[in-house]
Amino acid sequence: LIVLDQVNKRYGEHHVLRDVNLNVRQGEVVVIIGPSGAGKSTLCRAINRLETIDSGTITLDGTPLPAEGKALAKLRAEVGMVFQSFNLFAHKTVLDNVVLGQVHVLKRPKAEAVRKAQELLDRVGIGGQAAKFPAQLSGGQQQRVAIARALAMDPKAILFDEPTSALDPEMVNEVLDVMTSLAREGMTMVVVTHEMGFARRAADRVVFMAEGEIVEQNTPDAFFGAPNSERAQSFLAKIL
Ligand code: ATP
Ligand code: MG
Repeated sequence: LIVLDQVNKRYGEHHVLRDVNLNVRQGEVVVIIGPSGAGKSTLCRAINRLETIDSGTITLDGTPLPAEGKALAKLRAEVGMVFQSFNLFAHKTVLDNVVLGQVHVLKRPKAEAVRKAQELLDRVGIGGQAAKFPAQLSGGQQQRVAIARALAMDPKAILFDEPTSALDPEMVNEVLDVMTSLAREGMTMVVVTHEMGFARRAADRVVFMAEGEIVEQNTPDAFFGAPNSERAQSFLAKIL
């Protein structure tokens, strides 16, 4: 579904993605792990074209990513993104946060968008908070709004960049539980996270990145059981 072929990205002298090849299949859950500065966020941002690449190709469903205009807005709907910092519209209600993209990008009738938004808010367990503003919600609740907002666009895939890193510990699981059920329902997901429990439980594949390269990738059992590379071994030794 999402194919990266020989992708390179530099910031000046700094080579942050080095010949990255990755093929995310329909329905697959790929968890990306690795040390700070490895290029994990850059990779996610490149897939959503929040970042341009210097060479190589990225295709979605066989089509190269569009550069601009309406096609780009459509891409951002088709590949949802959930960030560490929620990125909700602060001056809109929770309901409106989930409605607006449906109306403006997908041109869905308002009544239908509202119905769908309410249904998704119920599904992520915050149906009762629809009339509130984001600041009136806990971090875990806000992140679940962000997930509902991504789902409202009927995405082909959702990218998550450290969705629980900004949360207080007691709120991490409520977000991971929503993500785990999405994974079980067959959503195609690329997840950057330090939550190894989630990776073991929900990932089809773990991709370990360091210094801009995919160093190794494997099933969670194989990867956590016996990582091949020294870099992965020392990374896991530090975090587990
Ligand atoms: P973390 O775990 O800390 O989030 P990461 O794996 O997500 O790290 P990236 O954010 O992708 O890493 O960054 C990769 C490298 O690119 C880092 O060394 C970072 O300093 C550099 N970098 C990222 N964004 C920019 C930018 N806009 N301009 C210059 N350098 C950047
Ligand atoms: Mg990052």
